[in-house]
Amino acid sequence: SFELLEKFRDPALCRKILDKMESELDRELRFMEVCGTHTVAIFQSGLRSLLPEKIVHLSGPGCPVCVTHESEVNAFLDLAGRDKVIMATFGDLMRVPGDKGRNLKKAVADGARVKVVYSPFDTLKLARENPGDLVVFIGVGFETTAPTIAATMKMARDQGIDNLRILCFHKTVPTALDALLSDEAINIDGFILPGHVSAIIGVAPYNFIAENYAKSAVVTGFEPLDILQSLNQMIEWRNRGEAHVANNYTRIVGENGNPKALEIMYEVFEPCDALWRGLGLIPGSGLEIRPEWEAFDAKKQFGIEIKDGPSLPGCKCGDILKGIKQPDQCPLFGKACTPANPVGPCMVSTEGSCAAYYKYKLD
Ligand code: SF4
Repeated sequence: SFELLEKFRDPALCRKILDKMESELDRELRFMEVCGTHTVAIFQSGLRSLLPEKIVHLSGPGCPVCVTHESEVNAFLDLAGRDKVIMATFGDLMRVPGDKGRNLKKAVADGARVKVVYSPFDTLKLARENPGDLVVFIGVGFETTAPTIAATMKMARDQGIDNLRILCFHKTVPTALDALLSDEAINIDGFILPGHVSAIIGVAPYNFIAENYAKSAVVTGFEPLDILQSLNQMIEWRNRGEAHVANNYTRIVGENGNPKALEIMYEVFEPCDALWRGLGLIPGSGLEIRPEWEAFDAKKQFGIEIKDGPSLPGCKCGDILKGIKQPDQCPLFGKACTPANPVGPCMVSTEGSCAAYYKYKLD
C-alpha cells in the first residue's frame, strides 16, 4: 500500500542510517548492485549523491540488454532480414547495436518485419494471425522473464500453434556473480542482490558468495530505505569480520523463490554455457531449449552459432559491467556516445549504467 511505501522512504530514517554508515566506514568499500532497476532507483531517489564518499557504487551485469552479446545481436539482426520471418521483441532491443552500427530499428527501415511486444504471450496472437510466416521471439533476460517464455511455449503447444520460434539467449544471475568473484582483477566487497530475479530463484542459490568468497550479499527492494539498510548491514558484517547472504526483501521474496515458476522454466530450458557482453564465456550461465521442445528452437532451425569476437570499438561496457570502470571513465561517454546516439548497449537501455549515469549526473 501507499502507506507501506512511504515507510520505506522516510527521509529522517534515511539520514540516520547514512550518518551511521559514514561513522562506521574506515576504508573504501565497493558495493555492486546487480539489477538495472536498482541502478535507476539509486540515481532517481538521489541516493547516489548522498552515499558516504567511502562507498564506491558499481552497477553490475543485471541489465538484460547490456549483457546480450554482440554475436547474439548479430544473430537476430541476420534473422530479421529473412523472408517469411517476423521478429518479435521487447522494445529495448530495437536500438542495441550489432556490428557496423546495425540495429533492429535500421533493419525495419530496410524492410525487415519486427514487432515490439509487451509480453511474450502477445506472440501467440501474432503467430495465429500470420500462419504463413514464422514468428521468432528474441528471448533475452534473466530468471525473471524465462518462466513466462516457458509458459508461452507450453500454451503454443497446447493451442497447436506451430509457427512460433524462440531465439533463446536467456542468462542466469548467480553464475555471473560467481564468474565476477572468481576474477582476481575484480574487487567487490558486497552485492545488492536483485529483487525480481530473487523472487523466482529464492535466496539459497547465492549462498556461495559468503561460503566460497567470504563476501556479503543482500536481496534488496527498490526503495531508498531498502537499499540503505542492506548497505548498512553489509558494513556492519564486514566490521565484525563476517560475511552473510541474507534476504532484506521478505515482503516480496520468499526463501525458496517461486517453485512453480522454476519448475516450468526447467521443464522447458536447461543450463548451457553462454557468452555475455564484456564478460565473455561463462560456463553454465545460460538457458537453452531442451531437446523435447526443439520444435520451438530458432537457433537449431536456423543453425545459429554464437561465437566470441571483437567487441564494439572504443566501448568499455565490459569493464563497466565488471565494476572495473565507471561510465564517465569511458573516453566516449557523453561525447561520441549519448542516449540519443549510443555506441554501446550500456547507453541504450534506460536501465544501463551509462544511460543512468548520463541522465542523472549530467542533467
Ligand atoms: Fe560503451 Fe558508451 Fe558506455 Fe562508453 S559510454 S562504455 S561506449 S555504452
